[in-house]
Amino acid sequence: LESALIIIAAVWIGITAWGRLMEPQPLQNVGLGLSITLGAAALNGVVALVLLRAGRRLRSISLRADAQHLLTDVWTSVGVVLGIVMVQLTGWWVLDPLIGLVVAANIVWTGFRLLRDTAEGLLDRVLPQEDQEVIASVLSRYERQGIRFHAVCTRAAGQRRFVSMHVLVPGLWTVKQGHDLSEKIEGELAGALPQSTYFIHIEPSEDPASFEDQNLDRERKDGEA
Ligand SMILES: [Zn+2]
Repeated sequence: LESALIIIAAVWIGITAWGRLMEPQPLQNVGLGLSITLGAAALNGVVALVLLRAGRRLRSISLRADAQHLLTDVWTSVGVVLGIVMVQLTGWWVLDPLIGLVVAANIVWTGFRLLRDTAEGLLDRVLPQEDQEVIASVLSRYERQGIRFHAVCTRAAGQRRFVSMHVLVPGLWTVKQGHDLSEKIEGELAGALPQSTYFIHIEPSEDPASFEDQNLDRERKDGEA
């Protein structure tokens, strides 16, 4: 719906701009329009910087992508304001509808980009390389303490991350010891990756059966469920 509204707005701007291109006329409410545009651009700029910093801190690619989109909009607004100031200075009215057409094209592009991002967000994928490195670095710290991991799987659905893994611990550990460890690992991972959900399976590291369950589909012996 958002994309459809954006494209309708772009078409409307395009039609208005075309009419003015055919019949140039002086600008109306220039001061008000410029102040609103500059105000919105400044606000977008601040939000973009906050998102960029948060994106770096949380190592989130999606936050950073949002920030980049916003920054593009800020530069577009600055370009428009410069163009309008030039129209006022030179009295070359035809520049105004030309800027309008460029803005309309930019908005259509944004609308399609939004549609594409939404479509991609609906598909299942593994987590981006960057997130996987975060997971690997947390797990490697535990591996140095003798804990082993396998069947580490990741999945991204929209903004949400899913991580599943088997944690191999000494078979003599109590259920509580195993669970405490998995809570600790999960806490560290969740601290580094926002909006993430974990499925952790504790297994005795001495038991060969622990190693036979690493594939998505598992071969069952006769008589087993
Ligand atoms: Zn296993």
